Amino acid sequence: MTNLQTDAVHAALATVPVNRPAVAPLYESAAWTFASLREVEAVQEQELPGTVYGSLGGPNHVALERLVATLEGAEAALCANGGMTAIACCLRALLRPGGRVLAARDVFGPTLGLLTVDLPHWGAECELVDACDIDAVERALRATQFAVVYAETISNPRLRVVDVPALAELSHRHDALLVIDNTFASPLLCRPLELGADLVVESLTKYVGGHYDCIVGAIAGSAELVEPMRPAMLRAGQLPSPFEAWLCARGAQTFPLRTAASSNTAARLASWLEDQPAVAAVLYPGLRSHPDNETALRTLQGGFGGVLSLELRGGRPAVERFIDALQLIRLVSSLGGVATTVNHPASTSHRNLTAVEKRHAGIHEGLVRLAVGIEAPDDIIRDLERALAAAERSSTAHVAT
Ligand SMILES: *Cc1c(COP(=O)(O)O)cnc(C)c1O
Repeated sequence: MTNLQTDAVHAALATVPVNRPAVAPLYESAAWTFASLREVEAVQEQELPGTVYGSLGGPNHVALERLVATLEGAEAALCANGGMTAIACCLRALLRPGGRVLAARDVFGPTLGLLTVDLPHWGAECELVDACDIDAVERALRATQFAVVYAETISNPRLRVVDVPALAELSHRHDALLVIDNTFASPLLCRPLELGADLVVESLTKYVGGHYDCIVGAIAGSAELVEPMRPAMLRAGQLPSPFEAWLCARGAQTFPLRTAASSNTAARLASWLEDQPAVAAVLYPGLRSHPDNETALRTLQGGFGGVLSLELRGGRPAVERFIDALQLIRLVSSLGGVATTVNHPASTSHRNLTAVEKRHAGIHEGLVRLAVGIEAPDDIIRDLERALAAAERSSTAHVAT
């Protein structure tokens, strides 16, 4: 006699096959069983691989962390439910009340908020500097003791490239740790740990995940620095779901191919755009005209990335016509996906800056950012040609009125 009330609970329980699946399965299980107390003991003591409880991390998290550590050339990695979580956890772990961060002035908007609004609530402080001005960084480090120096490999939207080896040398000389947000470069272009950085934080949501279907981030570095961060992250419940970790690892299989394709196309577009009459300036680290071209040639070993910005003559009216005329390229405020996207920093990422702050940061109304995807380059160029023609009509009208 069977009892449906019991069978409904147990009959479909997972069987563990003797042979291995060819791709990593998704382990969407919050709870895990043990055969015996001896097995509990072995898993708890990490003598055998196993999972104790979902929110402490399962096989999909272990797989993603191993992947990130490999990609970044790190001894250890921690995954998080977003790049922002990784950044916040990393800084929280490194700072004590009274601790100071010397950070690049042009970091990602939410990171700037974290540094200037949240840090003081923890009793820590932040000073901002132009991280591409090595003399300014050195002056700041001489004047004050900082626990952390923080910068992005490539910044948004002006694509400034920091000199990671020089920042690492200066940070270490002044007893500070160098933390680099490697999101825009991705480990295909740059491996900051190999250039002397102590920790890498990054949003895997962008190039590594690559399909805009998961929000995942990571911290990577030496086990000595990374592993002590793990307990606090787990207590705060900051892991991605197994599904997000799985999606990210799945997308990452093609990450080097996608990133190489978008980087190659972006380089081609950058030189082509420099010759277009509607374009006043192109910002791309691979161009000789870019202020950090020399640094980029030294530190970005795998290309110059898939993001470029351009300044349209004719300001905002030209930008509106340009965006309206695009057919293939969509208006999206993110980057790193397979499809080419456009955004207008003055209306999105840098919206809350005052007019003076925007001017200082170089966020002009005519500035447009392109995040190049993996479509055929000729199709992207055709779409841009159409949009630039529309932008030019606008600039003539703009000058006339
Ligand atoms: C997107 C982004 C982040 C935040 O990552 P999420 O995964 O969206 O939380 C951090 N830094 C940079 C440079 C980014 O572009």
